[in-house]
Amino acid sequence: MSTNFDLIVIGSGPAGYEGAIYASQLGMKVALIEKDPTLGGTCLNVGCIPAKSMLQSALMLDKAKKFASYGVKIAGSDNPELDFPQVNKRRDEIVKTMTNGVSFLMKKNKVEIIRGFGSISGKGQVDVTSDGKKTTYTCKNILVATGSRARHLPHIKVDGKSIVTSEEIWAWDKVPETMAVLGGGVIGCEFASAYGRYGSKVTIIEMADQICPTEDHETAAELTKALKKQNCEVLTSVKTKSVTAKGNKVEVVLEGENSPRVFEKVLLSVGRAPNVENIGLEKVGIKLNDRGFIDVDLKTYQTNIPGIYAVGDVIPTPQLAHTGSSEALYAVDIIAGKKRHPINYLTNPAAIYTYPEIASIGYTENQLKKAGRNYKSAKFPFTAIAKARIDDIADGFVKILIDPKYGEVLGVHIVNTKASEMIAEFALGNNLEMTIEDLAHTIHPHPTVSEIIKEAAHAVMGHPINM
Ligand code: FAD
Repeated sequence: MSTNFDLIVIGSGPAGYEGAIYASQLGMKVALIEKDPTLGGTCLNVGCIPAKSMLQSALMLDKAKKFASYGVKIAGSDNPELDFPQVNKRRDEIVKTMTNGVSFLMKKNKVEIIRGFGSISGKGQVDVTSDGKKTTYTCKNILVATGSRARHLPHIKVDGKSIVTSEEIWAWDKVPETMAVLGGGVIGCEFASAYGRYGSKVTIIEMADQICPTEDHETAAELTKALKKQNCEVLTSVKTKSVTAKGNKVEVVLEGENSPRVFEKVLLSVGRAPNVENIGLEKVGIKLNDRGFIDVDLKTYQTNIPGIYAVGDVIPTPQLAHTGSSEALYAVDIIAGKKRHPINYLTNPAAIYTYPEIASIGYTENQLKKAGRNYKSAKFPFTAIAKARIDDIADGFVKILIDPKYGEVLGVHIVNTKASEMIAEFALGNNLEMTIEDLAHTIHPHPTVSEIIKEAAHAVMGHPINM
């Protein structure tokens, strides 16, 4: 096995493995270092993919309960029930297929996999420790893609059984009767939406004044309403004083309350911390920002040390799989000497896969108000869209915020089961600097759910057609 490479990538999450593939395709000799047994990082193993599989099972259960309303009768299935072991089995099979797929892609693209814990030991030098044995590798450039882990809080002891984070929750073998979700961000709301529909009585406890605090206030309000119909109690502007496991129950005391609320399980979902420890950053003098993320120049993704780049969850940009992989491909282009326009994070879509989903791009209405920016806004409901009614997904709306002078699309906020699929149209449009007229004049097929985009564009221009 070679010990000298053009590029060494540390971490095989979506940022690391996609960067490694692309660098190899551009002709670099690439090694990818991974400490865990399977490739794919958080996203494939304990993040995006298994979470979406859990949510899909919840959606299928909802649908099964409605079969009769479609005119479909299935003998013996008047009362569909959840088969939780099968939910987990299906999820694990999908994860296995996808992580094996990454191994296959590495082989196909001639990326060398090095198993073990990687640590930068000098410029162009990485030590890998595996089973107590250290090997040193050299390279022209290093790409740090070590990702993130679930953030813990000092006053809450995660025991991995009754009190878990998104890393341990996968081991649950039954649906808890009651659960508290501490932190109503994306991850907390997704698990609440799944477990609530499985039958758990869920309490979401969020200290901000809305769940999903980075989202537009109207989409957060719509999601709050929907979660309440899914067995979820939603508490906002509330802090947790103490969380204590007692036997097979957990006592949660909230600020302003004296007696504890008792739950069978607690999920702590208060964000993700960057993996910056023990990877040799201090040895070469790599700077962190004030929140502990690796500081990079967003025009190159290079750290303050030439030849060492960082991308994905370990840098202070949105902690999303597609953001990390886009940054990695960009950094590889820069390493290869290509010219690129910097990534415009205002065109970076975010999606939450609750029921219904939320997807967004650009500014929220409150951000525009705070910035004193002139804007026009309109909301178009899915109830006015025939295909949404046919598909029984007429919940939610598309909200568009534009600059009235030039018709620039400043923000888009979608609430609907298909929101994550629809937001990409806006990402493309905004990347191409479209105006609202461009969007309104784009012919959308009928009947489709996505024709709402054209309708919402007309609405924000002041002439709603089908409403
Ligand atoms: P990671 O995926 O965290 O991968 C880092 C890799 O580096 C890991 O494999 C780790 O073992 C390895 N590593 C770390 N240190 C070392 C070392 N020193 N040596 C060797 N290897 C090392 N994002 C979305 O876009 N959409 C979603 O729907 C979504 N859902 C999510 C659901 C959940 C429950 C969670 C937890 C996250 C979700 N995310 C989602 C976020 C997404 O998973 C992350 O943004 C993404 O995985 C970050 O990619 P990354 O490559 O930067 O890091």
